[in-house]
Amino acid sequence: MTETMAGMRKLPSVATLLERTPPDLFHQFGRTAVTDAIRDAVDTARKQIIAGAPVPSAEDIMINSLVSLEQKFSSDLRPLFNLTGTVLHTNLGRTLLAEAAIEAATAAMRDAVALEFDLETGQRGERDEHVRGLLLELTGAEDATVVNNNAAAVLLALNTLSQGREAIVSRGELIEIGGAFRMPDIMTRAGALMIEVGTTNRTHARDYRAALGERTGAILKVHTSNYRIQGFTAEVGAAELAAIGDAAGVPLINDLGSGSLIDLSRYGMRDEPTVRGAVEQGAGIVTFSGDKLLGGPQAGFIVGRADLIEAVNRNPMKRALRVDKIRLAAIEATLKLYLDPDRLAERLPTLRLLARPREDIEAQARRLQPVLAQAVGNEFEVSLCACDSQIGSGALPLDTIASAGLVVRPRSGSGALNRLAAALRGLTRPIIGRAADGGLVVDLRCLTDEDMFVSTLSELAARGPADARRHP
Ligand SMILES: *Cc1c(COP(=O)(O)O)cnc(C)c1O
Repeated sequence: MTETMAGMRKLPSVATLLERTPPDLFHQFGRTAVTDAIRDAVDTARKQIIAGAPVPSAEDIMINSLVSLEQKFSSDLRPLFNLTGTVLHTNLGRTLLAEAAIEAATAAMRDAVALEFDLETGQRGERDEHVRGLLLELTGAEDATVVNNNAAAVLLALNTLSQGREAIVSRGELIEIGGAFRMPDIMTRAGALMIEVGTTNRTHARDYRAALGERTGAILKVHTSNYRIQGFTAEVGAAELAAIGDAAGVPLINDLGSGSLIDLSRYGMRDEPTVRGAVEQGAGIVTFSGDKLLGGPQAGFIVGRADLIEAVNRNPMKRALRVDKIRLAAIEATLKLYLDPDRLAERLPTLRLLARPREDIEAQARRLQPVLAQAVGNEFEVSLCACDSQIGSGALPLDTIASAGLVVRPRSGSGALNRLAAALRGLTRPIIGRAADGGLVVDLRCLTDEDMFVSTLSELAARGPADARRHP
């Protein structure tokens, strides 16, 4: 007991520690946070002394304070290396925006902009006007509007056309996508009575025709973006479905999911429907996402027949789903890049990454193999590997893109691998790979800043994987 008392007396006081704190620290974190951190560290030390631990030095307490300050002030949203092989990784924020979009968004953040103000007349303007013309030009639609994301676009379109009415959908298209977005639930929340037709694998034109009636508000077609039904199958194409609807005066809503503004076959990606194609097929409304293949910020686009878009715009729900000036600026700048298709792959990171040739990635893997091997140390073996990148976000689920990377395998025991993965996640710029084949695979398709990667790895080497593990 007396020993503990003596220890307590030797423990530096908060006031003493504050006097000795370098001014830089106050400058960086502010006096309040520094004082709190030091007080917490002293409290912890006191508890440890009571539990029998030796008295820490003033320096130890300062180090502990600094570690906790750094943790508190570092963001979990800090940039990281997405080396998962999934280019549009929903959990890692999907798209990287084009420089033009970043600049436009930053400028809009910093200053007032004419968001709903007409600079020509000085009258109130419409926020959609900034992107409407571009969307019409790029899709061939009569009218267009934009909301928070494609989930919101589908909800709003359904609610506008079929609240209190029936919406017909094929059983083969009742999809669930990530984040608990289930089409039947969305239809219910939109106030539509879902009328399922056909079977899981086969739905025919006669099924839709038989379901049409007085109370039908819309026919819904959903792009089965994250799976494929193969084998003995039948579906009714959008053009035929639009015609069936037209004959009964019922509009077709075609949810494309990702969709694309250009034909991607030029970049080796087949089969993703274009928005222009979907509009030409006669859908009353086409919805698609801003941050999937389009390569822009999160957004949902609703394009189609002028009278239907007008009805969507009159829906009070629209106000709850609208986008702000920052995203509108980024969307506008992104869409403008599509006006110059020849340079699109250079300027739009999503497309640039998807189109990156395998040889290029493999050469990078060769360069980085010794660097990574040195950083992870003798406990691991690092070798070149072939990878199959995925587009992600449900686009073209069965198509993979040949890629290359490195696989890190522990020389003994799998515990080491978990520790390494945790250490990589704990870096200033976390490195996120993918567990596969008893190793950690880093697919280098999305590695654009090689120098930054190398200097991040030196951080790992300096700490040592075992030490870095303690840093969350
Ligand atoms: C991704 C997707 C959505 C939702 O789009 P978000 O922009 O992520 O909200 C809706 N429908 C389909 C078919 C999709 O693939």
